[in-house]
Amino acid sequence: MPGVSLGDAFARDLPEMAIPWRAMEPEEPSLLMLNEELAGELGLDADALRSETGVRFLLGNALAEGSRPVAQVYAGHQFGGYVPRLGDGRALLLGEAEDTAGRLRDLHLKGSGRTPLARADGFAAVGPMLREYAMGEAMHALGIPTTRALAVVGTGRLVPRDTGLLPGAVLVRVASSHLRVGSFQYARSTGDADLLRRLADHAIARHFPHLAETEAPYLGLLEAVIAAQARLLASWMLVGFVHGVMNTDNTTISGETIDYGPCAFIDAYDPAAVFSSIDHGGRYAYGNQPRIALWNLTRFAETLLPLLAETPEAAVELAEQTLVGFGDAYGDAWIAGMRAKLGIAGRPGAPDPDAEQAAEAEEEIARIAVGALEDLQARSIDYTGFFRALAEAARGREDGVRSLFAVGAGPGEWFDAWLALGPDGDAMDRVNPVYIPRNHLVDEALDAATIGDPAPFETLLGLLTSPFEHRPGFDRYALPAPEGSGPHRTYC
Ligand code: AMP
Ligand code: MG
Ligand code: MG
Repeated sequence: MPGVSLGDAFARDLPEMAIPWRAMEPEEPSLLMLNEELAGELGLDADALRSETGVRFLLGNALAEGSRPVAQVYAGHQFGGYVPRLGDGRALLLGEAEDTAGRLRDLHLKGSGRTPLARADGFAAVGPMLREYAMGEAMHALGIPTTRALAVVGTGRLVPRDTGLLPGAVLVRVASSHLRVGSFQYARSTGDADLLRRLADHAIARHFPHLAETEAPYLGLLEAVIAAQARLLASWMLVGFVHGVMNTDNTTISGETIDYGPCAFIDAYDPAAVFSSIDHGGRYAYGNQPRIALWNLTRFAETLLPLLAETPEAAVELAEQTLVGFGDAYGDAWIAGMRAKLGIAGRPGAPDPDAEQAAEAEEEIARIAVGALEDLQARSIDYTGFFRALAEAARGREDGVRSLFAVGAGPGEWFDAWLALGPDGDAMDRVNPVYIPRNHLVDEALDAATIGDPAPFETLLGLLTSPFEHRPGFDRYALPAPEGSGPHRTYC
């Protein structure tokens, strides 16, 4: 790709965690999806990317200036069990691109062939890569920090999977970095104090550069990652997202959502909701996610102990004090988000009258939110549809929300308390999506795309990328799966 250059800061700073490797070269690749908006952000020309050279660039076959592709080494707790060496088994970091806003963004491949860290064939099928594309774009449009897909390139090869031979693909992913809690676990496990420090310095330079000049940069790093993950988890919970595989190697230092494997959105509100076929114990159930994030962050804090204080005792104390901050940060982000969802963001307690009043208003809002959620859970009401119906009620049309409840039963006491606050229905519509990637719709679109019909996928993507804008004629896309379609299962 003439005119494109990539940095190799990760490979240079952390050679012990970067295995130089090259992507496979499929004979007959075809560009299946190109994210033009994201290409624009990266200063890449969409037409050039569509050319033969462009596609070879996307596959990691034709390297940009400065690009030194590497497989990144990391460790991680998978479903609570420690695996000392994971890493990019079918993925490669091409390098860091500077976007038009001056930020560094990783260009990364998934499905680009076996690396020395492979745990399976090194390939990826078209369906799951398009799924990652749609999920990431939906999350981005919902305002949730996430990795994003730049492109999906069909390899023209077949990939063996349980369900048969599937068409193969390479996903080109963009992230503010691919540093994970698992990266720190790996560095710490080597016992090499210098490597751990270099990794922490690299993370600070990349994500929290203001910390570099502070007195306690590594404690600052821990605080910053805790804060970023607390905000991320609140945004997942507020939108009804279930990640499905919250292993420490899928927990980013940047606070971006990563690894759209068995993820799903809830229909009916249910804290126990699990979609992943491999999550037998419900470890990563919807309602468990904040707790799991704290567990993962505790693993992160453990890796940083040698950098936090002179003595292990002092380091542990500092880490413990800091981890306590997760609960508050999560709670604050959740209640602020719930205020907005309920259309009462500008109501009493918000701009800060006196502290006592603010605390009371906060409690009142928490009571309303919890009351609403209890109703949703007890009656298996669609979470996403509910908030749009509630916005109608805020505008004086209560039929919609009442019809969600069984005949003869209405919403609980919270409803009148909420109405009394004078909620702003139009503001609610700006934060409560009409369209989310509902499991049955995504599957339907991917099935069609896999057999060569991209139209349903394009239609779905169009709705998901403007999720707050109601579009007449697409009612089916705003509804939960038809009754009787049974519980949904997702696969890695
Ligand atoms: P994940 O469950 O997606 O977070 O992946 C866990 C580990 O398995 C990572 O080290 C991946 O690189 C590796 N892995 C997953 N799928 C494949 C595959 N098809 N080929 C090789 N390695 C894989
Ligand atoms: Mg992963
Ligand atoms: Mg995965």
